Amino acid sequence: MAGKILFSSDIDDPAAWAAAVRALRPDLEVVDWRAVTEPEAFEFALLWKPPPGGLGPYRNLKAIQSLGAGINQLDLSTLPPGLPLARLIDPLLTETMVDYAVTAVYRHFRGFDRFERQGRERRWAHEEPPAKDDFPVGVLGLGVLGGAVAQRIRAVGFPVTGWSRSRHPINGIEVYAGEEELPAFLASARAFVCVLALTEQTAGILNRETMGAMPARSYVINMGRGGHLVEADLAALVRAGHIAGATLDVLSQEPVPADHPFYDLPEILVTPHVAGGIAPRSAAPIVIENFDRAMTGAPLLNLVDPARGY
Ligand code: NAP
Repeated sequence: MAGKILFSSDIDDPAAWAAAVRALRPDLEVVDWRAVTEPEAFEFALLWKPPPGGLGPYRNLKAIQSLGAGINQLDLSTLPPGLPLARLIDPLLTETMVDYAVTAVYRHFRGFDRFERQGRERRWAHEEPPAKDDFPVGVLGLGVLGGAVAQRIRAVGFPVTGWSRSRHPINGIEVYAGEEELPAFLASARAFVCVLALTEQTAGILNRETMGAMPARSYVINMGRGGHLVEADLAALVRAGHIAGATLDVLSQEPVPADHPFYDLPEILVTPHVAGGIAPRSAAPIVIENFDRAMTGAPLLNLVDPARGY
C-alpha cells in the first residue's frame, strides 16, 4: 500500500531512514517534518519525539511507530489520544543488547575490572579462575530484550535467575515474579542485569534497600534506563564495599556531566548509552510491516499498552 511516513527525531538521520524504507518499498516516502507542507497527507508517523508544535495538524494519523525500543522519550500525554503506539524492536538491537550484557558479566566475573586497575598500579596478583556455578546472574525484566539476555547468559554456562511483573517460564532459568518475590530474587544472584521497562513502579528500583539486599560483593549492570537506578545509593554502596562494581549504560542525565561522582569511582564503568542500537537497514522491515498493519487496521507489532506504560 503506497503512502507517506512522517519522520521526526533530533537524534536519527531522516535521509538514512528514507533510503532504507525506499530500498524495500519504493512506493513509501519517509518525509522529515521540516519538509512537510500538507500534514493531512500523513497516516503514519515514525517518531523519536513529535515535531516541535506537536501532532495536532496531523489529523489523519492512524498509528505511531516509536524510533526507540522504549517509549520514555515520548510524553504520552502530548500524543493524540487513542492512537496505537508501537515500540521498535529489531533483531540487531536484541543482538547488540545481548552482547553488551554478556561482555559486562564476563568482565566482572573474570575480574578484568580489577586487573585493569592492578595493571595501572603496576601490581601482579595471581588468582585462580572463578567457577561459573559460584556466579549466578539475575536478570531484572524478562521482556523482549531481558528474555534474550537471560537465555544467552544461561547458554554460556552461568546459572541464571530472572524477575518480572508476570511470571515467564524460561527453560533452565529460575524465575521470580512480582513485588512479593523480589526479596528472594535479590538474594539469588551475584550479578544483576537490569533490562526493565521504566514505569512509575520501576523508577528507582535499584536503590539502597534493594541493592543492600543483594549478596555482599555483588555487581550491578544497568542497561534499562537511567531512572531505574538511584545513583547516590549505588555510589554509597560501592564506597562501603557492599557492591563490588557496576557497569552502567544509562544514566539519570545523559550526557553524564564531567564532574559526575561515578567518574571518580574505579569500580564503576560508565558507557555512553551504547548497549543497543537501532539501524535503519535492519529495522526498516518492521516499520514497513507496522505501516501496512496500520493501513489495514491490523494490530501493530510491539504495541504499547498505555495503561501499563510499556
Ligand atoms: P519489554 O519487552 O517491554 O520488557 C520489559 C520487562 O520489564 C518485562 O519483563 C516486564 O514484565 C518488566 N516490568 C515492567 N514493569 C515491571 C514491574 N513493575 N515489576 C517487574 N517487572 C516489570 O521491554 P524491552 O524491549 O525488553 O526493553 C527493556 C528495557 O531496555 C527498556 O527500559 C528499554 O528502554 C531499554 N533499552 C535500552 C537500550 C540501551 O541502549 N541501553 C536499548 C534498547 C532498550 P512483564 O513481562 O511481566 O510485563
